[in-house]
Amino acid sequence: MSSNLIVVFIASTLMFAVAGYSSDPTENIRSIMVDNQIVRRGITHQATLRAMRTVPRHLYVPHEQRRFAYFDRPLPIGFGQTISQPFMVAFMTEVIDPKPHYRVLEIGTGSGYQAAILAEIVEKVYTIEIIPALANRAKEVLSRFYDNVSVKIADGFYGWEQAGPFDAIIVTAAAGTIPPPLVDQLREGGKMVIPVGSPYMVQQLMLVEKRGGRMVTRNLMPVRFVPFTRN
Ligand code: SAH
Repeated sequence: MSSNLIVVFIASTLMFAVAGYSSDPTENIRSIMVDNQIVRRGITHQATLRAMRTVPRHLYVPHEQRRFAYFDRPLPIGFGQTISQPFMVAFMTEVIDPKPHYRVLEIGTGSGYQAAILAEIVEKVYTIEIIPALANRAKEVLSRFYDNVSVKIADGFYGWEQAGPFDAIIVTAAAGTIPPPLVDQLREGGKMVIPVGSPYMVQQLMLVEKRGGRMVTRNLMPVRFVPFTRN
């Protein structure tokens, strides 16, 4: 870890020199992150691994957290919210099996990092955030690199009806139950991944597949996410 740390500190001082993903001096640390935290834990989806090696996670976290950006844990992003641990982002991305032609809906933009990972892989990403300041910050950074991401400030419970149906939906806040509008907006055969359970407790990460208009659910693993809030 000490060599990782050194690279992270050097990287954070070079941050302002980063003009774009292509000239990024943090590529190395990202590669170590992917190998140690993600490949080692069994993620094999190639497009996901490629995206995780590409997106500069440090650009999506607040300045004071940047030196921790490639650590194996979630980080605070302000307003009581967090950016998920890198492995969790990779796992949730792999589980929806995103394809290049996909239109994906994310609920809980937060830092914008998960949206960026998706934007590397699929045709179009729609993402909804309930806290305006987070939505605006994510929109600003995402717009520097992507023209295939739309960010909306709203209660994600209702989804994004005009943009649906979606090939896949990723919910990154823990809901007590699966919001029915999201099921409606998932296409037949589509996949949704969502943490379900009480806020501030351990929840179940669930995979929801829509088959014959019905929901087929499977528990994936116990997780801990910030609460899905309502306006
Ligand atoms: N995907 C994010 C994780 C952010 S944490 C990332 O990559 O950083 C979950 C986010 O969900 C928080 O920003 C929180 O404000 C947001 N959220 C909670 N309830 C919501 C709701 N009803 N609609 C939209 N966003 C919501």
